[in-house]
Amino acid sequence: MRNTEEAIEKLKRLGFKCQQCGNCCLELGNTLKLDLDEAKKWEEFDDLVFSNFGYYFPTDFMEIMPELQCADLWFHPVTGEELHRCPFLRKRNHNYRCLIYDIRPDVCKIFPIVQATGELGKDWADICPEVKRIMEESMATHSDE
Ligand code: SF4
Ligand code: SF4
Repeated sequence: MRNTEEAIEKLKRLGFKCQQCGNCCLELGNTLKLDLDEAKKWEEFDDLVFSNFGYYFPTDFMEIMPELQCADLWFHPVTGEELHRCPFLRKRNHNYRCLIYDIRPDVCKIFPIVQATGELGKDWADICPEVKRIMEESMATHSDE
């Protein structure tokens, strides 16, 4: 399953409720890529977006890699240096929020579903409390059978 909508439906079926702990963005946010279709949508997006560096176009943070058919994220919008953390992760009180929630990458929208397999990323139980909860509930259900 590679389809984003299907993955989002799967999360709903699993009863997934993000706790906004920010762990996924903190741990994995510097490994993200966009496929070329998503990169094109970002190129067509002509509003400035607010980031931890100020207002820029989303494309200022990406670098197209035609040979790999994707765009690499994230780069400093002025110096072009590679960033170690997503520039759109913002802490508010005890929670984290995404400053580009509506246009965030598909891989963020479907987390913790693995894009390549369409399955819940069980290896992420260490960083995502919801993956841990779903797996523990599933194990408890099966042990009752
Ligand atoms: S784009 Fe948003 S959801 Fe994705 S890593 Fe950055 S802050 Fe997290
Ligand atoms: S690690 Fe899981 S619960 Fe925490 S913000 Fe990411 S998806 Fe939500």
